[in-house]
Amino acid sequence: MDFKFTEAQLALQSVAREFAEKEVQPLADIIDKEHRYPAETFAKMAEIGFNGICTPVEYGGSGGNDIDKVIIIEEIAKKCASTAAILSVHTIFAAGILKFGTEAQKKKYLPLMAGGGWLGAFALTEPNAGSDAAAARTSAIYDEKTGEYVLNGTKCFISGGGKANALIVFALTDPSKGIKSLTGFIVEKGMPGFSIGKIENKMGLHGSETVELIFDNCRVPKENMLGKEGKGFSYAMMLLDGARIGIAAQGLGIAEGALDESIKYMHERVQFGKPIAALQGIQWYIADMVTKIQAAKWLVFYAAYLKSAGENFGTIAAMAKYNSSICAREVANLGLQIHGGYGYMNDYPMERIYRDAKITEIYEGTSEIHKLVISRAVLG
Ligand SMILES: Cc1cc2nc3c(=O)[nH]c(=O)nc-3n(C[C@H](O)[C@H](O)[C@H](O)COP(=O)(O)OP(=O)(O)OC[C@H]3O[C@@H](n4cnc5c(N)ncnc54)[C@H](O)[C@@H]3O)c2cc1C
Repeated sequence: MDFKFTEAQLALQSVAREFAEKEVQPLADIIDKEHRYPAETFAKMAEIGFNGICTPVEYGGSGGNDIDKVIIIEEIAKKCASTAAILSVHTIFAAGILKFGTEAQKKKYLPLMAGGGWLGAFALTEPNAGSDAAAARTSAIYDEKTGEYVLNGTKCFISGGGKANALIVFALTDPSKGIKSLTGFIVEKGMPGFSIGKIENKMGLHGSETVELIFDNCRVPKENMLGKEGKGFSYAMMLLDGARIGIAAQGLGIAEGALDESIKYMHERVQFGKPIAALQGIQWYIADMVTKIQAAKWLVFYAAYLKSAGENFGTIAAMAKYNSSICAREVANLGLQIHGGYGYMNDYPMERIYRDAKITEIYEGTSEIHKLVISRAVLG
């Protein structure tokens, strides 16, 4: 077994680390406090090839794989969970087009999403269809006269949905058949009948806007259907399997960010005449934090390795996401404890990190759903 990064991966890590330090960290607290989407950072990520990291070069991407994606998301999440979330969710759109799209869709959307500054989003969740995605009710009825699908319904909690230039939206082409007719559609910003509803006021991840999407007789040309009619549920589940590796990397990076902040603080903060780093009780917290992080790291990179090698990765990806999200929450909790009262104040990044960590246990499948996926894989 060889756990070493290649020269190219080490070079990418160093570029991503420098980018995160110079471009992402300075904005992290600002976008959190202002609840602001970091458009300037997203544009810079497009320029250096992060936005199209897994998109083949022939479609304007960087031609990387999932290990490369994890390297980038981990480094960015160390400094800002919101920016990492934006990038992770954005890559789901390209993954969907690449896997299920037509050649024309690939040629149209992939270059725009990679280097063209377009933002992608993924819309599956509905008010009554969260973990139970099969309960989706948004409909897409074909209009023979115009050759368009007419979408009606509401999606909720959609990351980047208000800023996205194009989204993959799942809707039923025949509500009487239920989930068997769930189908993916590429919906572009500005299509008639598509609007943004409520903008959520969240506990954390303030730089990544989360919105409601409203489809009121929204007309989508039939060329914008993604893949085959009625395959939407299996497409969505396949895309989420891969996307979970991104969220696992985000959780890992959040935990590492908490560790870095804690080590810095332990050396600065003096109590009882010495830095708290000299207190054994606090040192033990660091031992717990690095051990959880190291374990999470192996699982995340193993999932990414399996996916890039074309092997079965779904169960390991579920384990990686489940484990990294616990790691993020627990390590952030210890980090806040190390900061004492100052950790509870928003003058230090620790308070933001603690709030941001929680979401990793909820989105792209809750921990409970991941436990179902993992236990079913074992028990059959
Ligand atoms: C900030 C944020 C961003 C998001 N971004 C997106 C996005 O971009 N696109 C998108 O489509 N969705 C997105 N979501 C939706 C997210 O994926 C759902 O919130 C998540 O899947 C859970 O659904 P729910 O919130 O309806 O909770 P519920 O499904 O109502 O779950 C409530 C509780 O019941 C538990 N539960 C449910 N079913 C079971 C079961 N069978 N066994 C055991 N426990 C169970 C859950 O684990 C949870 O603890 C986002 C959510 C948030 C909060």
